[in-house]
Amino acid sequence: MKKTAVVTGGAGFVGSHLCERLLHDGYRVVSIDNFYTGRKEHIAHLLSNPDFESIEADVEYSLSLDGPIAHIYHLACPASPVAYQRDPVKTVRTNVLGMINMLEFARNKGARILQASTSEVYGDPLEHPQTENYRGHVNTLGPRACYDEGKRCAETLCMDYHRQHGTDVKIVRIFNTYGPRMAPDDGRVVSNFVVSALKGEDIVVYGDGAQTRSFQYIDDLLNGLVAMMKKEDFVGPVNLGNPGEYTMNELAEKVQQMTGTKSSIVFRPLPEDDPRKRCPNISLAKKNLGWKPVISLDEGLGKTITYFKEMLI
Ligand code: NAD
Ligand code: UDP
Repeated sequence: MKKTAVVTGGAGFVGSHLCERLLHDGYRVVSIDNFYTGRKEHIAHLLSNPDFESIEADVEYSLSLDGPIAHIYHLACPASPVAYQRDPVKTVRTNVLGMINMLEFARNKGARILQASTSEVYGDPLEHPQTENYRGHVNTLGPRACYDEGKRCAETLCMDYHRQHGTDVKIVRIFNTYGPRMAPDDGRVVSNFVVSALKGEDIVVYGDGAQTRSFQYIDDLLNGLVAMMKKEDFVGPVNLGNPGEYTMNELAEKVQQMTGTKSSIVFRPLPEDDPRKRCPNISLAKKNLGWKPVISLDEGLGKTITYFKEMLI
């Protein structure tokens, strides 16, 4: 009898890769998605698999499914700043009501639930690189707060369900992740730069481009998520990210070189509250999960560029 894993946000960038990975690992997989940023095409190739089921549902409302559930990967939430700021009240509802509903669901089923939290809980960090002990520097009033505070509250709810009800929870803090199947209009930096370069349009850097991010390829993240779900007696939170740190200018130049584009790099105003730097300390993940990322930015960008080239033909 196969174990069943539920993936909320299963039609999104990370979720659709995770559904594939879990099917490959021998699970029955149920995707729950309202297709807010996810796409039916991302999971269309899985629909003929008898072990896969796609349910169109919003995590803001309570979920009921028949039969035993072993694992819940709770990913439902738009991740791009453009997408999560489009309807910020909805973003808070997804994060907070969605987390309560999925924790109730986990509690009723006796399932283990993993919350996809984020490096954004550290806000515009004053500690660098960020360890899990750092409590963060978030502007509660700014346009990013719907996401940052929503995710912080979701972490709180995980810990409260764990202490109050004994719910089996896991928290991972994911740092910027990229790869094939990001939507071309997603708004995040890697897809924006690659798509602009391939179309020969200007590569638009926000601010002076000196801000940094650390980019993790999707396959490395999947290994971390699965390792965390399997790990006994470890709630987290644990950082999952690639410590290689780049300025947005460096990334733009890299994309320019790797695509061979004639696109120019141009500059536009920095969005409000855009974090100045971000880099994970991954000592805890190395020690407790035996995990570290293995795919370099060059290798991962190469695969991502190939994907977008084929998509844009
Ligand atoms: P994504 O936007 O591609 O996918 C999110 C998925 O959730 C989409 O399929 C969307 O339709 C679905 N969704 C949104 N609101 C929903 C709701 N109310 N009910 C049901 N489904 C809903 O984003 P992603 O990059 O795949 O991110 C997945 C998760 O990982 C998110 O929770 C995100 O916060 C977290 N995360 C991602 C990154 C990253 O760099 N990719 C970094 C940190 C955290
Ligand atoms: N960014 C940029 N050009 C773009 C999109 C983003 O310069 O077309 C910058 C953005 O201001 C931020 C960084 O790239 O400093 C990463 O942005 P993204 O939206 O990918 O994720 P964030 O880490 O900010 O959530």
